[in-house]
This record gives sequence, C-alpha cells and structure tokens, in this order.
Amino acid sequence: MDYDFLIIGGGIAGISCAARLSHAGKVLVLEAEDALAHHASGRSAALYEPRYGLGPVVALSMASGDYFRSAKDVLSPRGMMIVGQAHEAAQFEADATDMDLVPISLDAARAIVPILNPDTVAHVALADHAWDIDTDLLLQGFARQARAQGAEILTKAPVTAIARDGAGWRVTTAQGDFSARILVNASGAWADMVAGMAGVAPLGFTPLRRSMARIPAPGGLDISRWPMIFGAGETWYSKPDAGALIVSPAEEHLTTPHDAFADDMVLAEGLARYEEMVTEPVTRMLANWAGLRTFSPDRVPVIGFDRHSPGFFWLAGQGGYGFQSAPAASQLAADLLTGTASAMDPDVIATLSPNRFA
Ligand SMILES: Cc1cc2nc3c(=O)[nH]c(=O)nc-3n(C[C@H](O)[C@H](O)[C@H](O)COP(=O)(O)OP(=O)(O)OC[C@H]3O[C@@H](n4cnc5c(N)ncnc54)[C@H](O)[C@@H]3O)c2cc1C
Repeated sequence: MDYDFLIIGGGIAGISCAARLSHAGKVLVLEAEDALAHHASGRSAALYEPRYGLGPVVALSMASGDYFRSAKDVLSPRGMMIVGQAHEAAQFEADATDMDLVPISLDAARAIVPILNPDTVAHVALADHAWDIDTDLLLQGFARQARAQGAEILTKAPVTAIARDGAGWRVTTAQGDFSARILVNASGAWADMVAGMAGVAPLGFTPLRRSMARIPAPGGLDISRWPMIFGAGETWYSKPDAGALIVSPAEEHLTTPHDAFADDMVLAEGLARYEEMVTEPVTRMLANWAGLRTFSPDRVPVIGFDRHSPGFFWLAGQGGYGFQSAPAASQLAADLLTGTASAMDPDVIATLSPNRFA
C-alpha cells in the first residue's frame, strides 16, 4: 500500500484530520480543486459560538474550545445579539435560552448598534461568548502541521474511481492511482457520491445552499465592534467583515453538490428582512456568494468507520458548524482511525457514528 490513510477532500474536515493523523502513519489528502477550501470551507460566516447547534455538535464545539484558545490569533471577540419583533416573542425566547443570551433593553442595544429600528425591534438579547474565527489561519495551521509530520496534500486531484485493493483501497485521479489501507471520506457535499464510487451505501446527506451579501458599513459607521446579529428564528443574520457587513438570508435550499452561487431573489428577500429591523437602507451590494451546508438525515455530523465496509471512514455532515467543531471532530476522527481511546463522551461518539443509520 502507498499510504496508511487516504483522505478525500481538502476542506477544513480533511485538512484538520490530516494534521491529527499524520503522526500515526503515511497520509495523503486528495482535493479536486486548484486550491484548498474552495467550497464550503471558503464561504462560511466564520463564527465560533459553541452553543449553536444540536447536542452532539455543541459537545464537539465546546470540546474544541481549548484548541481555539491556545491557537494564536485564530479567535477574536465578536459577541452575539438576537433581535425579534413583537410577534416573534416565543421564537426569540427559545433562541435566547438555547444559546444563553441575556435580554437587554432596546436603548442598551441601540447604544451598541445604533441602526436598530425602534419601530420594529421589540426584543433584544446579547452575549459575549461568540468569536470570529480566522478560518484561513486555522486551515493553513492544520495544513502546515500535517505537512511537517510528513502528510502529502495534492490539489487538482479529483478522485474519479475507487476500487477494493486487497484489504485496502485503490483510487484513480487525474494525477495517477494511489492505494491506501484506509479511506477517509471528507468530501463535504459530495460525501454520498464518494461513498457510491467505493460501493458504500449512501447515508442521505443533503447539501443546503446558504447565500451571503457583503454591503458597505451602514451609514458609514465604525461597525468593527458590532456583534453578529440574528433575526429571531434565524431568518437572517449580519456580521462585520473587514470593514463591511455581511448579511445572509440564512436560507436552507435543498440542492445537489455543485459550485454554489447566490440566488438574487433569495438575497433580495433576505436583505428586506434585515432592512425591516434597521434604520439604514441597503443601497449597494459589494459582493455576494453562497456555499453548501451539508447535513446528515438527523443534522448531526457523521464520524466513524462504516460497519458494512471495512476501511471506509466517514467524516461528513458538518452542516453549519464545520469550523467551530473541527478541532475536536478531527481529534475524535484520528482517535477512531488509530484505535486510540478518545476523551469524548462515549454517548456522544455513538450519536456521531454512521452505524446509527444502519
Ligand atoms: C454560508 C455558510 C456559513 C457558514 N458559517 C459557519 C460558521 O459561522 N461557523 C462554522 O463553524 N461553520 C460554518 N459553516 C459551515 C462550514 O463552512 C462547513 O461545515 C465546513 O466548511 C465543511 O467543511 P468540509 O471540509 O466538510 O467541506 P468542504 O469545504 O466543502 O470540503 C470538501 C472538499 O471535498 C472535495 N471533493 C469532493 N469530491 C471530491 C473528489 N471526488 N475528489 C477529490 N476531492 C473532492 C471538494 O472539492 C471540497 O473542497 C458555514 C457554511 C456556509 C455555506
């Protein structure tokens, strides 16, 4: 065998896994695109709010905290605010409770974000436990660690065929064939397609498109210290981004794996929901993009060996949490791949296992 571990996918999942694994064997990462993080990992809102998501996701994100805090300059303070209209009281309260935000008065909120619209904003809650992630720094740090430990990372290497090779696997790419003992499927939106190539039953992943608009700082204000703001029920969100503001309609449109782009109508409707809650109209869009948030059927990531297909390992379905959970998810993946005891709660490991579906 050429390698011990062959990882398909050069997003945050595949690269962080390579970093955690490369001390334990020969690792090769194959990425189809010209550069790493071309798809979901290059298009995120880059937030670390460990209370965001379902229980097992929160467990992974919380367990990632030590790594984030010790990684120089990867996190910077952001904070989170939820705003709701009078008729959204129940949803607002549920969101604020779930993510542990404290209700504050509209006056206090307008002292932080002066453009909140007093005619429509009836409820506001705030928390400081949310941070910006420098996603490029995080990913490049993992890539550096992987390469320093001997891992190879090949771009422009789409895997087009996968076959059994004795006890392991042989994959075909534009840059040649490679064999490995263990195959790690970290191919994001393409996870079921990659499984299909290997003759492994798909788990039913759904790529859900989410769009983003970048607009100039409202009113020319200094917005650098504004928190990320969510409309109650996640009907839109905004976040300062390098002097501008990104606003997302927060849609979840079912699609197929592809190089995603924003839908103009969805963007316009999302910007209208944002505009309703602020006093500064959107007059110009600087840029827009979209990415795919890929979920498993129960919206919990899938980390573990496929019990029906020896040597096939799933690291997929990170949904909207792939960065904030990456440090712990990659450590768990490496522990399972190398048969090392994990610090993660066994119940959480069971809820992440692909075997919950079959
Ligand atoms: C709009 C948006 C906002 C988000 N906000 C946040 C946030 O604030 N915080 C957070 O933690 N997460 C957020 N996320 C989620 C996060 O971006 C994803 O969970 C994460 O990037 C998924 O990483 P990945 O490596 O699994 O997938 P990807 O980055 O998509 O990587 C998979 C890679 O596999 C490659 N691949 C596929 N098939 C093959 C093949 N046959 N051969 C070779 N390579 C192949 C693809 O080219 C791709 O590069 C957001 C996502 C979106 C879209």
